[in-house]
Amino acid sequence: GQTIGILGGGQLGRMLAMAAARLGFRVHIYEPGARPPAGEVAELTFTAGYDDADALERFASGVDVVTYEFENVPAEALDRIEALVPIRPNRQALSVSQDRLDEKTFLTEIGLTVAPFATVNPSASDAAGELAMAMASVGLPAILKTRRLGYDGKGQARIDSHVDGPAALETMQGAPAVLEGFVTFRREISVIGARGSDEEIVCFEPGENVHRDGILHTTTVPAAIDDDTRAEAYAIARTILVALDFVGVMGVELFETDAGLVVNEIAPRVHNSGHWTEAGAVVDQFEQHIRAVAGWPLVDPMRHSDVVMTNLVGDDVASVADIAGEAGARLHLYGKAEARPGRKMGHVTRITGPARDR
Ligand code: ATP
Ligand code: MG
Ligand code: MG
Repeated sequence: GQTIGILGGGQLGRMLAMAAARLGFRVHIYEPGARPPAGEVAELTFTAGYDDADALERFASGVDVVTYEFENVPAEALDRIEALVPIRPNRQALSVSQDRLDEKTFLTEIGLTVAPFATVNPSASDAAGELAMAMASVGLPAILKTRRLGYDGKGQARIDSHVDGPAALETMQGAPAVLEGFVTFRREISVIGARGSDEEIVCFEPGENVHRDGILHTTTVPAAIDDDTRAEAYAIARTILVALDFVGVMGVELFETDAGLVVNEIAPRVHNSGHWTEAGAVVDQFEQHIRAVAGWPLVDPMRHSDVVMTNLVGDDVASVADIAGEAGARLHLYGKAEARPGRKMGHVTRITGPARDR
């Protein structure tokens, strides 16, 4: 049987490992941090940094394919791995989604709509002048975001007027940034798409996302969108998957506006807003991803239930005892010992009824 290597041992890696195990694959995890949630379900865990050439080579030589739950793996580490074993999704998918400027540039080049954006270098001698130019170009309000490594709304600062500029620049701690015009949206949706090694593309139905303190709070499926918007969401996902010659599952975050869909960002991996698929569809995003990277056929991801997925963040896990007794609630805990504020501890998907006929 095949052995699948996963870069990153967090909850996404854990759920990928569980799906892989169910299909009879062995899993090896590579994770710099101690006690990774995925380690418990993997055959082997390499606890070493991405600068450890020896560990990377041992990891890569023991697996048939490498995938990832985390897109910020340094390029040199990927070079070492790729010398020994294929990486799926491919390097272009990774590099484009590691940097917000490259991502927005790429999405624009393939004809998709993103928020107006401009680059800002907070460590330039005239950073204030650069920001002023960027504000003039994208308009206000705007959001200054670090180009790399941001997640859960971290590394972002909202700018409502020029007086907010200095504090926003300070938030970047010198890291290269991009200024984005604020998009007035009706709702946020996301589509989880998959492309197989045979180039087949299938998408899960879009979910509607609500954030709390910058962190995904709920995903509701179906999203309250019309058929044209749903078709547009699928078309956008398809365009990106084809343009990247992508193999695996991708999450595409979208804003629904009066003028149509605007792409917020893409994730070249399974996505938190796709966790509902465990309880609401005939195949889940984790199995779909493992199928794609292992060269198996994809499954038509038909949704059978209406669902609401809620993240359990920090102290939210205190309600686990109640949720455990709730009818129609599918609970998933990540096995993390300590419930720190803002830390994703688990999620619950509540089945709200059979899939409505739209
Ligand atoms: P994730 O955890 O999804 O990777 P992130 O840190 O990369 O989050 P974004 O997705 O860029 O952050 O932004 C987080 C949230 O902030 C968005 O889901 C949206 O609610 C809001 N937001 C971000 N950019 C914009 C924008 N240009 N206009 C309006 N709202 C925005
Ligand atoms: Mg992001
Ligand atoms: Mg996001």
